[in-house]
Amino acid sequence: MQHVRNCGEQIFIISRKGGTLLAINDFIYRSNLKRFGVNSDKVYWECIHNRSKKCRSRLKTIGDDLYVTNDVHNHAGDRQRIELANKSGILIRKKFSAIGLPAYTNNKPIYQ
Ligand SMILES: [Zn+2]
Repeated sequence: MQHVRNCGEQIFIISRKGGTLLAINDFIYRSNLKRFGVNSDKVYWECIHNRSKKCRSRLKTIGDDLYVTNDVHNHAGDRQRIELANKSGILIRKKFSAIGLPAYTNNKPIYQ
């Protein structure tokens, strides 16, 4: 299992109906943002194609530490969707530990 300690800011997509989505390496993950663990800082993420394509890629974050439980996707990445979200101004950068706090977007693209 891949473990990235103390991640910096990540890219999130503020989706109108789907809540907060996480974009990593052109793939998109969703979470119900329920917090688990003794410190209530453990959050589980699953690929957005978990149901439609039965993709089993998933992650877990504990505080700002990222644990890649399974990084094997059975489909291509969602870069177009991420770029579209970027153009729409619904991409935000924040640290995992800041999720659930109010999110603000300044409608400026994060990357081109
Ligand atoms: Zn996937």
